[in-house]
Amino acid sequence: ALNRIICLVEEQVRECLKKDVGQMKLQDPNFRPGLVVLQVGDRDDSNLYISMKLKAAAEIGINATHMRLPKTATEEEVLHSITEVNENSSFHGLIVQLPLDSIHKIDTEKVTNAVAPEKDVDGLTSINAGKLSRGDLGDCFIPCTPNGCMELIRQTGVSVAGKRAVVIGRSKIVGAPMHDLLLWNHATVTTCHSKTVDLPGEVGKADILVVGIGKAEMVKGDWIKKGAVVIDCGINHIPDKSKASGKRVVGDVHYASAKEQAGFITPVPGGVGPMTVAMLMANTVLSAKRFLDSHKSGNWNIS
Ligand code: NAP
Repeated sequence: ALNRIICLVEEQVRECLKKDVGQMKLQDPNFRPGLVVLQVGDRDDSNLYISMKLKAAAEIGINATHMRLPKTATEEEVLHSITEVNENSSFHGLIVQLPLDSIHKIDTEKVTNAVAPEKDVDGLTSINAGKLSRGDLGDCFIPCTPNGCMELIRQTGVSVAGKRAVVIGRSKIVGAPMHDLLLWNHATVTTCHSKTVDLPGEVGKADILVVGIGKAEMVKGDWIKKGAVVIDCGINHIPDKSKASGKRVVGDVHYASAKEQAGFITPVPGGVGPMTVAMLMANTVLSAKRFLDSHKSGNWNIS
């Protein structure tokens, strides 16, 4: 059933954002939300993800720019490009596609933190992550993958408050912000990682399970509590001779066995991935709205 819900939610989000952008145009015919995707190097997987983001932006009416730096780019050059976008008021969102693919050593943390927090639509700066971890959800940008997971959980109709939620993974982009989001939506949250002693035991307690490990089909159906909501963020390529490409994509959850136990389960591909892109668009439109609101005539920003 979640398959059908996912399509509907994505469509709903897209339609809603299109309307929002149309509304902004009515306010000011020359205005369009602007997004920059900054890429260093030329990784195949990054190229694919970026093309999906640019396509989604075009559909909604967001003006998206793909800014490319060569593999020879230095940290200083990357930081310089970020400052330029930070200072350009026609861009409301800036994301740096990770991992950085440069022949030089570049400090990823320094680069992500150079993005102006009010344009950080990936929600990866320490400022936005800090606000989320303190529960200031209305005043930050929430990272797109966990935000998409949360939206999918909401759409199941299962209430989060008071439930036992288990997150596997504690990365800055998936696990850690997912923990925070569930916590501030009033779940009782356990976060597991590579040092967790009894992973199946922890998973078995979850009413809501969100998995972001990066290990193909690691979570088995017989670990999962009957009726649980299972959200699989994993994107793993495994060999498959029956495919022309010689490989196929699977999640971190063993789907076939897990779907026998779960009340709701997201498929891979097609579940969390497309929602992540939709949430990036939602954050960009939100940022453009905040920009317009703070620049309305008669609105002095003197705080
Ligand atoms: P990551 O940075 O490699 O983090 C993986 C996490 O899993 C870490 O916290 C790690 O624990 C934990 N882990 C690793 N092995 C484990 C094990 N055997 N048992 C329990 N925990 C284990 O990966 P990520 O960036 O969060 O991505 C996770 C997955 O989500 C990947 O498949 C990625 O492709 C996918 N992803 C999807 C999207 C999307 O748009 N759908 C976006 C981002 C990521 P430690 O902290 O102890 O090392």
